[in-house]
Amino acid sequence: MAEQDYDYDLFVIGAGSGGVRASRIAASHGARVAVAEEYRIGGTCVIRGCVPKKLLVYGSHFAEELQDAAHYGWTVEGMRFDWGTLRDAVLRDVDRLNANYTQTLENNGVERFLERATIAGPNAVRLVSGREISARHILVAVGAWPVLPGFDGVEHCITSNEVFHLPTLPRRIVIQGAGYIAMEFAGIFNALGCEVTVVNRSDQILRGYDESLRDRLLQITMARGIVYRFNCPIARVEKKDNGCLAVSIGKHDPIEADAVLIATGRRPKTDGLGLENAGIELGEKGEIPVNEFSQTVCPSIHAVGDVTDRVQLTPVAIREGHAVADGLFGAHRQAVDYSCIPTAVFSQPPLAGVGLTEGQARERHGNIKVYTSDFRPMKNVFAGRIERGLYKLVTHAETGKVLGVHMIGPDSPEILQAAAIAVRAGLTKADFDATVALHPSMAEELVLMR
Ligand code: NDP
Repeated sequence: MAEQDYDYDLFVIGAGSGGVRASRIAASHGARVAVAEEYRIGGTCVIRGCVPKKLLVYGSHFAEELQDAAHYGWTVEGMRFDWGTLRDAVLRDVDRLNANYTQTLENNGVERFLERATIAGPNAVRLVSGREISARHILVAVGAWPVLPGFDGVEHCITSNEVFHLPTLPRRIVIQGAGYIAMEFAGIFNALGCEVTVVNRSDQILRGYDESLRDRLLQITMARGIVYRFNCPIARVEKKDNGCLAVSIGKHDPIEADAVLIATGRRPKTDGLGLENAGIELGEKGEIPVNEFSQTVCPSIHAVGDVTDRVQLTPVAIREGHAVADGLFGAHRQAVDYSCIPTAVFSQPPLAGVGLTEGQARERHGNIKVYTSDFRPMKNVFAGRIERGLYKLVTHAETGKVLGVHMIGPDSPEILQAAAIAVRAGLTKADFDATVALHPSMAEELVLMR
């Protein structure tokens, strides 16, 4: 088929972070682009992920701020929290962003189909309404979906898809999993005054993060009242006549809860997508295997974001989508650089890291030197809080190159982004030391470790 005989140059399935970026950039290169979305434009991050979660973190953090306010001379009378007000305000902001994303596609001349699309062949997609559309290139960017365990009564539980819509604030919540989503929502609900129990199959939280930071988060959150049940997953959930949930954990007596949140990972959303019609076989976790240019074994089909199960992070999906659009319709084809990706968990306190953890660095380089700063933030001292921050620089013992920066404490994600530039640039401990401290700040600890 000649180029102009296809209905579109690019058909994108999924209008999340990766799909919207690819659509916009491809259109800006002059491509004729269409995108299909079965739910809402914006995808997981905007509609039921990073953005509404961060707003809930902000909302819940006022509990601490208001408590501390008295130490700073404020009298706060009649303090009261209303879940419905916060929830609805957050959902309104999601609507605003959804409209912005839609407008972006509109402004760039990207045609939108608000329905499910599947792959009908290497250059064909089929809309659920029955129409078949041809495209020179197809991009799959459908994301991932929460994995639900198979215990009895799992239908009474919620996932991060539903948590933003809770009709009332649960007085008691059980959270299964101890990864990103679990730790972030444990922090939110704990700060909002709920009784939180975190249940995990192993005895670890936030696997993959630096061990001393994970320990610190565990200590602080336990002191704040979060209860952990390790090495025993939920065995069964039963709904009582009064609406309460009886949650059986391992062989222990059931505990009562008003909600159970499952946060045990997310699986690529490839079921029924028709990939076999283009000769694409899925990987072990249901992911679409791709090469360094996000191209599948079918040359006309690319895939980006969580559906490829490389790094499940919004900014990575955006980079991948951008690179595909540039590679197909722009001047250059470039692989995304996956080294040095900064990440953060918006727990309370938050935790952030870039580069190698101490364990990884020791394994890879053997000869390393670690610097730490274990400090009580000035703001906490003044407010009588005993919680301490912990910053860690992992360096190569011979060259002094900073291999990783890891931090837990107030605002650590805000500080880490700048430190990530230094790690990516290959700067050394001597470069950090030579930088004059910005005083008084928590960030100055980064250049004061000796
Ligand atoms: P994570 O992979 O972070 O954590 C999964 C948790 O569930 C772990 O504690 C794991 O235990 C446990 N688990 C895994 N499989 C099972 C199972 N079959 N039965 C019981 N427990 C299980 O997943 P999340 O759902 O928290 O988050 C999904 C992804 O979303 C993350 O990987 C992250 O990339 C992204 N995300 C990023 C955020 C951010 O950047 N701030 C925020 C939220 C999500 P164990 O550790 O013992 O294996």
